[in-house]
Amino acid sequence: MKKRILWLSSAFIISSLTYAQVMTPPPSYNENQTNKLDIYRAEAERINNLVHTKLDLKFDYAKEHVLGEAWVTLKPHFYATNKVTLDAKAMLISEVALVNGATKKKLNYKYDDLQLVIDLDKEYKKDQEYTLYIKYTARPNEVKQEGSLAINDAKGVYFINAKGERPNYPTQIWTQGETESSSCWFPTIDKTNQKTSQEITLTYPDKYVSLSNGTMKSSKKNSDGTKTDYWKFDKKHAPYLFFFGIGDYAVINDKWKNINVDYYVEPEYKDVAKQIFGNTPEMIQFFSDKLNYPYPWDKYAQMTAREYVSGAMENTTASLFHDGVQQKAGQLVDENTAEYVIAHELFHHWFGDLVTAESWGNLTVNESFANYSEYLWFEYKYGKEKADEHRYNEMFGYKQGDGPTKNLVRVHYNSREDMFDGVSYNKGGIILHMLRNFLGDDAFFKGLNKYLKDNEYGKAESAQLRLALEEVSGRDLNWFFNQWYYENGHPKLTVVSDYSSAKKKVKVVVRQDASKLFEFPFAIDIVENGKTTRQQVWVPKQAETVFEFASNQKPDVVIPNADQVLLADIDDKKPVEDFIAQYKAGKGNYTTRLLAIEAMANAQATNPKAADALINALDDSFDGLRIYAIHKLDTKSKTIVDKASSKLKQLASNDPKTLVQAAALSALNDANIYDATIFEKASKSPSFSVQGASLTGILKNNPSKINDLTTNLDNEVIKGSPDLAMALVPTWIKNNQLDKAALISESAAMYEFVKFQDPEKGKIAEQAFNWIMNNDTPDATAEIAKTYSRYYPYLKEQNPQASQAIKMMAEKALQVKTNATKTIKSATIAKQVEQLQDAINKMK
Ligand SMILES: [Zn+2]
Repeated sequence: MKKRILWLSSAFIISSLTYAQVMTPPPSYNENQTNKLDIYRAEAERINNLVHTKLDLKFDYAKEHVLGEAWVTLKPHFYATNKVTLDAKAMLISEVALVNGATKKKLNYKYDDLQLVIDLDKEYKKDQEYTLYIKYTARPNEVKQEGSLAINDAKGVYFINAKGERPNYPTQIWTQGETESSSCWFPTIDKTNQKTSQEITLTYPDKYVSLSNGTMKSSKKNSDGTKTDYWKFDKKHAPYLFFFGIGDYAVINDKWKNINVDYYVEPEYKDVAKQIFGNTPEMIQFFSDKLNYPYPWDKYAQMTAREYVSGAMENTTASLFHDGVQQKAGQLVDENTAEYVIAHELFHHWFGDLVTAESWGNLTVNESFANYSEYLWFEYKYGKEKADEHRYNEMFGYKQGDGPTKNLVRVHYNSREDMFDGVSYNKGGIILHMLRNFLGDDAFFKGLNKYLKDNEYGKAESAQLRLALEEVSGRDLNWFFNQWYYENGHPKLTVVSDYSSAKKKVKVVVRQDASKLFEFPFAIDIVENGKTTRQQVWVPKQAETVFEFASNQKPDVVIPNADQVLLADIDDKKPVEDFIAQYKAGKGNYTTRLLAIEAMANAQATNPKAADALINALDDSFDGLRIYAIHKLDTKSKTIVDKASSKLKQLASNDPKTLVQAAALSALNDANIYDATIFEKASKSPSFSVQGASLTGILKNNPSKINDLTTNLDNEVIKGSPDLAMALVPTWIKNNQLDKAALISESAAMYEFVKFQDPEKGKIAEQAFNWIMNNDTPDATAEIAKTYSRYYPYLKEQNPQASQAIKMMAEKALQVKTNATKTIKSATIAKQVEQLQDAINKMK
């Protein structure tokens, strides 16, 4: 045995002598360990570095293949090497060569469907460049890797309706590189710590338009009905940010300074494109100013995609959005739901694209900033209360599921896709807000500027953020980063206060859940005779801390976390009367008033003062809180309805915000209050939400009007108003109006959950489900299958029982649909069976 090994390894010893000085990484870095959580998720080792990538791409729409040629220029990072490994997933490789001036020299390589290991013609030393030529076919449908909660597939390139089989449905090709899927369409080193410049040539049918990173330098028509566009990107970015998109789009041009800002939307949305994306130039200006670092790229374009696998993606200079951002005018009257996503992807052009997380474990330096930019934009554009409302909802997202058990920076995880969660995003954004509050605006934003300048066109980890902020502010931040970046959870507090008239002092006791102690700055407001005094204290790492403050009389209320900055669970032990005082004292502070409204709502049945205060809150100065108060009204209580009805009618007809009008109309519907004048007028509103809520009420009271009212109704009105859809379903089923089926698909898909919330509506949803499954309904069934595959992995983490219910409904859908194929013979229904089966197959 021994001899044979010796004999075998003599050749090996010779070849490895040259590299004897390079030791392998430690065993904990080995990615082949059985328990994935044992792997230390290090930054990828850089042996060769990308320098430049040039691609020439053509497309086989029928096979859904990309026919590619790549010229990849690289150089060794430090140690000399005669090998290079490129990521290249599920490709057919037809040639690998070294480019030598005008000639090419064939190279030996090994390919295992994931990586291409190439023997170079000689040993290359540090900084000695070489260019590889690779001819290949990318086959996205053959890729075997799983997506994540945030990005639910990983094929890299997506052909949508490529063969044109679905009439009235667009044909598109678009790419999604994050996390490591760019290597599904070109050979590269698919790691975030690589940066390369690029050129891409795209040849595709003349009737479409294309978008890629950088600037389109030329576009020429070919004699065979195709055209060839040449895109060039001179600065360097990571491979996962490479992008191209091809399809039938209207391109609307805008400008920021001398930089082109373009919006690629489906032609139908041409006239509203500026309403959807039109704030972009102002955002670019705002973020450039805030960071004191002008937008660093040569253009900015935004494109929409059908069947997109995520919400949106910050491909450098070419962000891609799911098609739901395309709203109609009547929806935009209510709210541009895309706006914070637009801010998010744009801010990534500094945090993510310019300075890139060196590893997925450090994703926070990309995503926490993009998340926080949503706050910054809302604060600047619509005021602090709007921003705080958004932040409060983000906090909810983080606290769901197992978020509180995970560190922000993670060196151990099962899959890199797991990093895209409510911790990297939501919690990260919230703690950046805490950091800003601690350091002050000036130091915080100067620190961000330093971080960007120090690491521009490179990569970074959280330590670099800390060092930049420390350098600018002169303050040590280990206490902060250790608690919030390298540890999990948040403080769980109980706060009680007590007044001593003898000592003229108010005592505030802050108790922490002893299982995990934090130290943090804490704002406490003492409100005395309507006058507020802010006390800024430190809560140390101890189970109980007592603070005493002078007060001439018993305070109206003591408000803990009064600036609402700290991420915490706070059990604020005080009577509802104090919360009524808190509501009054909380001018300008969204969360302070929201918590007060919540307490008042909880007491509305038993405490008339609380009920009155809640009804007063219907007049709140901030529309988000007016809506919140409306939702909190107990519309089944006659006492409350009697007190609130005139106010609700007033809001329904006169509120300046259409979403408040719609909420008030829905509350009137729930309370069975109908005022024909108000509802008829509202039904003519330009706002889809107001139309939806008012038509629901009108139909409930005048069922015979159904045809008059809904014949010319925009489908989006129905989709946006589940109550209205529910009211229409029985008629659709009776008349077998299958063209309407897609409008109810979401409620139908989730009928068990609808039942749980409201048995009556649940019954209708189940009827809709059976109707859809028993018939040939391509769009509705596709939507339902998609709904199941989207929610299942999410619920499996957050609520396993609910995920079982999804699986059960999906199986039932498949069973009913399969049965229907016995009587209905068509290619489309067979396809529906396939889609449902696929959705079930994905449930693992
Ligand atoms: Zn993001």
